[in-house]
Amino acid sequence: MSITGGCFCGAIAYEIRAPLRAARACHCSRCRKVFSGASSAYAEVVPDAFAWTRGEDCLTVHAVGDGWALAFCSRCGSTLVGLAGDAVHGVTLGTVDGDPGVEIQMHIFVDSRAPWDHIGGDAPRYPGRPPP
Ligand SMILES: [Zn+2]
Ligand SMILES: [Zn+2]
Repeated sequence: MSITGGCFCGAIAYEIRAPLRAARACHCSRCRKVFSGASSAYAEVVPDAFAWTRGEDCLTVHAVGDGWALAFCSRCGSTLVGLAGDAVHGVTLGTVDGDPGVEIQMHIFVDSRAPWDHIGGDAPRYPGRPPP
Protein backbone atom coordinates (compact mmCIF):
# COMPACT_ATOMS: atom_id res chain seq x y z
CA MET A 1 0.00 0.00 0.00
CA SER A 2 1.63 3.20 -1.12
CA ILE A 3 0.84 6.87 -0.68
CA THR A 4 0.42 8.96 -3.80
CA GLY A 5 0.23 12.67 -4.36
CA GLY A 6 0.88 15.47 -6.77
CA CYS A 7 0.55 19.14 -7.55
CA PHE A 8 -2.56 21.20 -8.28
CA CYS A 9 -2.20 21.21 -12.08
CA GLY A 10 -1.36 17.51 -12.29
CA ALA A 11 1.98 17.90 -14.02
CA ILE A 12 3.88 16.32 -11.14
CA ALA A 13 3.08 13.16 -9.18
CA TYR A 14 4.89 11.05 -6.59
CA GLU A 15 4.63 7.78 -4.73
CA ILE A 16 5.81 6.90 -1.21
CA ARG A 17 6.25 3.26 -0.28
CA ALA A 18 6.53 3.56 3.52
CA PRO A 19 4.40 5.21 6.22
CA LEU A 20 4.91 8.92 6.79
CA ARG A 21 6.19 10.09 10.16
CA ALA A 22 6.57 13.18 12.33
CA ALA A 23 3.60 15.06 10.87
CA ARG A 24 3.53 18.63 12.14
CA ALA A 25 2.21 22.09 11.54
CA CYS A 26 4.61 25.00 11.86
CA HIS A 27 2.97 28.40 12.27
CA CYS A 28 6.05 30.57 11.70
CA SER A 29 6.00 33.41 9.18
CA ARG A 30 8.27 31.54 6.76
CA CYS A 31 6.06 28.46 6.65
CA ARG A 32 2.99 30.61 6.09
CA LYS A 33 4.62 31.92 2.92
CA VAL A 34 5.86 28.53 1.75
CA PHE A 35 2.50 26.84 2.27
CA SER A 36 0.35 29.86 1.36
CA GLY A 37 -1.70 29.22 4.49
CA ALA A 38 -1.98 29.41 8.26
CA SER A 39 0.83 26.94 8.80
CA SER A 40 2.82 24.19 7.24
CA ALA A 41 1.35 20.69 7.08
CA TYR A 42 4.34 18.47 6.58
CA ALA A 43 5.51 14.93 7.31
CA GLU A 44 8.84 13.21 6.95
CA VAL A 45 9.43 10.34 4.56
CA VAL A 46 11.61 7.31 5.13
CA PRO A 47 14.76 7.76 3.05
CA ASP A 48 14.53 5.97 -0.32
CA ALA A 49 10.76 5.37 0.04
CA PHE A 50 9.94 8.41 -2.09
CA ALA A 51 9.85 8.45 -5.92
CA TRP A 52 8.65 10.93 -8.51
CA THR A 53 6.26 9.19 -10.91
CA ARG A 54 5.51 12.08 -13.26
CA GLY A 55 6.79 15.52 -14.18
CA GLU A 56 10.02 15.69 -12.19
CA ASP A 57 11.32 18.01 -14.94
CA CYS A 58 8.62 20.54 -13.96
CA LEU A 59 10.06 20.97 -10.45
CA THR A 60 11.75 24.16 -9.41
CA VAL A 61 14.03 23.91 -6.38
CA HIS A 62 14.30 26.91 -4.09
CA ALA A 63 17.19 26.85 -1.63
CA VAL A 64 16.28 28.19 1.80
CA GLY A 65 19.71 27.91 3.43
CA ASP A 66 21.62 25.53 5.68
CA GLY A 67 21.41 22.81 3.00
CA TRP A 68 17.61 22.89 2.97
CA ALA A 69 15.45 23.50 -0.08
CA LEU A 70 11.86 23.36 -1.20
CA ALA A 71 10.62 21.99 -4.51
CA PHE A 72 7.50 23.33 -6.16
CA CYS A 73 5.68 22.95 -9.47
CA SER A 74 6.93 25.52 -11.94
CA ARG A 75 3.50 25.55 -13.65
CA CYS A 76 1.00 25.80 -10.79
CA GLY A 77 3.17 26.68 -7.78
CA SER A 78 2.22 23.83 -5.43
CA THR A 79 4.98 23.22 -2.89
CA LEU A 80 5.53 19.46 -2.90
CA VAL A 81 8.56 18.46 -0.86
CA GLY A 82 11.31 19.62 1.42
CA LEU A 83 14.85 18.61 0.48
CA ALA A 84 17.87 18.02 2.69
CA GLY A 85 20.72 18.31 0.26
CA ASP A 86 19.54 16.38 -2.80
CA ALA A 87 17.35 13.94 -0.85
CA VAL A 88 13.62 14.32 -0.29
CA HIS A 89 13.16 14.88 3.45
CA GLY A 90 9.38 15.19 3.62
CA VAL A 91 6.17 16.01 1.81
CA THR A 92 3.55 18.69 2.13
CA LEU A 93 0.45 16.90 3.41
CA GLY A 94 -1.82 19.06 1.27
CA THR A 95 -0.45 17.44 -1.88
CA VAL A 96 -1.16 13.86 -0.73
CA ASP A 97 -4.11 12.17 -2.45
CA GLY A 98 -6.63 10.89 0.09
CA ASP A 99 -5.60 9.85 3.59
CA PRO A 100 -1.86 10.17 4.24
CA GLY A 101 -2.19 7.80 7.22
CA VAL A 102 -0.95 10.37 9.71
CA GLU A 103 -2.48 13.29 11.59
CA ILE A 104 -0.77 16.45 12.76
CA GLN A 105 1.15 15.40 15.89
CA MET A 106 2.25 18.84 17.03
CA HIS A 107 1.88 22.54 16.37
CA ILE A 108 5.16 24.42 16.57
CA PHE A 109 6.09 28.11 16.64
CA VAL A 110 2.55 28.93 17.74
CA ASP A 111 3.79 32.18 19.31
CA SER A 112 4.49 33.36 15.74
CA ARG A 113 1.08 32.46 14.36
CA ALA A 114 -0.90 34.89 12.24
CA PRO A 115 -3.48 37.03 14.06
CA TRP A 116 -6.22 35.32 12.04
CA ASP A 117 -4.99 31.77 12.73
CA HIS A 118 -7.30 29.62 14.84
CA ILE A 119 -5.55 26.40 15.82
CA GLY A 120 -7.93 23.49 16.28
CA GLY A 121 -7.55 19.93 17.48
CA ASP A 122 -5.81 18.67 20.58
CA ALA A 123 -2.28 18.01 19.32
CA PRO A 124 0.43 19.50 21.60
CA ARG A 125 1.39 23.11 20.96
CA TYR A 126 4.84 24.56 21.42
CA PRO A 127 5.66 28.27 21.48
CA GLY A 128 8.73 27.70 19.32
CA ARG A 129 10.83 24.71 18.39
CA PRO A 130 9.58 21.42 19.91
CA PRO A 131 11.57 19.82 22.73
CA PRO A 132 14.17 17.34 21.39
ZN1 LIG B 1 1.56 21.76 -11.02
ZN1 LIG C 1 7.98 27.21 10.15
